[in-house]
Amino acid sequence: MDELLNEAPCGYLCLNGAGEIREMNRTLLRALGFEREELIGRHMETILTAANRIFYHTYFYPMLQLNGQANEIYLGLKTKDGQETPVLMSAARAERDGETVIDGFLLPMKQRIDHERDMLVAAKKLEELNRAKDEAHEALVRLHAELEEKQEKLVAVNQALEAQAYTDGLTGAWNRRHFETSLAASFATYERADVPFSLLLLDIDFFKKVNDTYGHPIGDEVLRRLAKLLREQSRDNDIVARYGGEEFAVILANADRDAAVQAAERYRLAAERTDMGDLRITISVGAATAGWGDTAPTLIARADQALYRSKTDGRNRVTFAQDNVG
Ligand code: GH3
Ligand code: MG
Ligand code: MG
Repeated sequence: MDELLNEAPCGYLCLNGAGEIREMNRTLLRALGFEREELIGRHMETILTAANRIFYHTYFYPMLQLNGQANEIYLGLKTKDGQETPVLMSAARAERDGETVIDGFLLPMKQRIDHERDMLVAAKKLEELNRAKDEAHEALVRLHAELEEKQEKLVAVNQALEAQAYTDGLTGAWNRRHFETSLAASFATYERADVPFSLLLLDIDFFKKVNDTYGHPIGDEVLRRLAKLLREQSRDNDIVARYGGEEFAVILANADRDAAVQAAERYRLAAERTDMGDLRITISVGAATAGWGDTAPTLIARADQALYRSKTDGRNRVTFAQDNVG
């Protein structure tokens, strides 16, 4: 064999028509680990793995018979120590010295296949990482939604708690604490903008008798009904509060003396006309309009004195407080 072909950087083999190895260059012998004498005269099958033997007989050999050539066929060769080494083989049929021969050139593929496998592994890993990233992102979005939901609940709970802190448990009206804050705010507005406002103190007449006659639970129900009635008869920015026991306070925003008396009459009449079965109630009212020099205690005291007058004058009536004199 030509020395150049013998040492060519690719494998070369020559088969006879029966598929027996007639020649093999040193490059291929070295790659397979055989001595020349061990392979010459042996069938091509000797250097094929089991699966590739089938492939050789069902595809490679018929292809050569049919077309006279077979190009870029991927084959797994078996080395002397039983390892599989992948090659790419191109072969052509030829007539030499009156005999049919097959020349084949083989390129080792191991590096390329390893490289491809590495690339596949890397791509798969990347895919897994991307999936993990997507999953983490989804989990984060879920957590975020949960957090928002919890925050909303927390806000709602806080609002409910705050409302509880400022409302009366029995009647749902504002409590005394909120009344005092609102009264201070009304004074601040009054002093800043000179907008008049009035205070009503309302007390149920002979309420003790209601409890004594119908029982405490019915008394409670009457308090709830009166609170509802007062709210219904009020404007949005009026403050209806339970001042204590069976006494309520209403801060009438933007209301002078006439408006206060009118509102007080409205409440008194509504209470009187409210049908609670065979139970009827009346209320006495003390009204006072904030004047210069008034403070929360003086205004409350004046309304309270007016309420006392309503009681002593016979109840179920409205009394307007004397003007603040100092
Ligand atoms: P007056 O016309 O002088 O106001 O007479 P009154 O009976 O309404 O006044 P008094 O202050 O003697 O009695 C008030 C009653 O209100 C006594 C108390 O048991 C009752 N009361 C106070 N708070 C509540 C409550 O939350 N529920 C019930 N059912 N009764 C209450
Ligand atoms: Mg009372
Ligand atoms: Mg009373």
